[in-house]
Amino acid sequence: MTDQKIRVRFAPSPTGPLHIGGVRTALYNYFFAKKLGGRFILRIEDTDQTRFVPGAERYIMDSLKWSGITIDEGIEQGGEFAPYRQSDRKHLYRKYADELIAKGNAYYAFDTPEELEAMRKQLETEKAPNTSYCPANRGSMKNSLTLSKSEVEEKLKAGNPYVIRFNMPANEELLATDLIRGEVHVNTSTLDDKVLFKSDGMPTYHLANVVDDYLMKISHVIRGEEWLPSLPLHVLLYRSFGWENAMPQFAHLPLLLKPDGKGKLSKRDADKLGFPVFPLQWTDPATGEISSGYKESGYFPEAFINILAFLGWNPGTEQELFSMEQLSEAFSIDHIHKAGARFDFEKAKWFNHQYLIKKTDKELAEIFLPFLLEKGVNADPSKVEFICSLVKERVNFVKEMWEQASFFFIAPDVYDAEVIKKRWKPEVPAILKEVSELLSTLEEFSAESIHNALHHFLESRQYNFGQIMNCLRLAMVGTSKGPDLPVIMEFLGKEEVISRISKAVNSIE
Ligand code: GLU
Repeated sequence: MTDQKIRVRFAPSPTGPLHIGGVRTALYNYFFAKKLGGRFILRIEDTDQTRFVPGAERYIMDSLKWSGITIDEGIEQGGEFAPYRQSDRKHLYRKYADELIAKGNAYYAFDTPEELEAMRKQLETEKAPNTSYCPANRGSMKNSLTLSKSEVEEKLKAGNPYVIRFNMPANEELLATDLIRGEVHVNTSTLDDKVLFKSDGMPTYHLANVVDDYLMKISHVIRGEEWLPSLPLHVLLYRSFGWENAMPQFAHLPLLLKPDGKGKLSKRDADKLGFPVFPLQWTDPATGEISSGYKESGYFPEAFINILAFLGWNPGTEQELFSMEQLSEAFSIDHIHKAGARFDFEKAKWFNHQYLIKKTDKELAEIFLPFLLEKGVNADPSKVEFICSLVKERVNFVKEMWEQASFFFIAPDVYDAEVIKKRWKPEVPAILKEVSELLSTLEEFSAESIHNALHHFLESRQYNFGQIMNCLRLAMVGTSKGPDLPVIMEFLGKEEVISRISKAVNSIE
């Protein structure tokens, strides 16, 4: 394998359910790999044991699967660079931390949490420009840059707890390149000596992430904007290891913003506005709290990925509906926006509607049947298919079909008061009785014959056509809504139609 091969990775930490922003990151990596014939790798970054959440890793994999993102290399798929879970690679990182110490790019730090806290407080009181553990401040701390060699050796021998920190250059103009943002300039005096290796024997995110990207021959790092501040350190780590030639190219994706554009889209905002921020439903293992998911809310995965694809990218054309394959084909990093992407919930529903009406009636009926069973309706699948064909234009989600179609199965119990007020005049019950008699004489109870008979009858008697048809609809449906009335009546059948007319006549005052 040459270093030019396109290899990208999605590297989530299993600290909870995967936010839709994370799915978008995975998706863009996936598109990029597919478009250029590369490999998409899933690496689980679980070195922070304090933030580990049981079930989160499984959730991440299930979410990718539901979204249609296939993984080329990962903990379940295996691959040339296995293992793909960082805790299973634990043994591997120490030597890299040691290498940096040997080269002078990292050092031991023995400071206790109390000492670190005291340092921070003191620097705050002094209003120091940088209050972190950095070149300007490390000189007064307990580390292998300030202690003598023998003191350090003694402490290590005695088993004193320590971390390994990066030896940040004191004052250097650093240039990093981002494929979306262009050149990023930073002076290292604003950065700190990040911990690379912790006292629990685990590497931190920074060390493990860079080492693994190198070992796994990652060509492009495509990740969320929240990692942009880490870029200078990562570039310096590549330099310190002497891996500049193998350094991946970086692309930091814009944030996902709340619908009003003011701030990052969080679970709290989404809950308030009534839409999910997670692909699948998630039950918090600690509290039992349930968070809703796109899948369970009735989104089709095709719609879900189409929605996400457009949050931060556009094809540069008017086309909005794209299959996974078309997205991979059309995707390019050049068309990713710099500015944050607002989440538009109405648009999300519109996307689902578009995919819903593209489904066959048979597919829709298959999804709708369990909803009907839940309502105690055991309907003939072919009839359900027919109903789907009638109501699909009116809904964004299959579950909404019940509201649009329940009258096909259950006679209305309540009648829309507005319609009654407007249409149900004193003469209506007698006319509807006549209509009922007329319908009972029909030999063929088809929509067409019902339509013709009603037309002919109401016209010949000079009854108000609109009024009676509306009252008849009220008797069948309970409201003024619904598909073509004769079609509904044919579906219900003669007996049911007559029974509904009499029920309405008897119950509407
Ligand atoms: N483990 C990091 C995360 O949780 C990965 C960031 C990166 O892609 O470098 O998002």
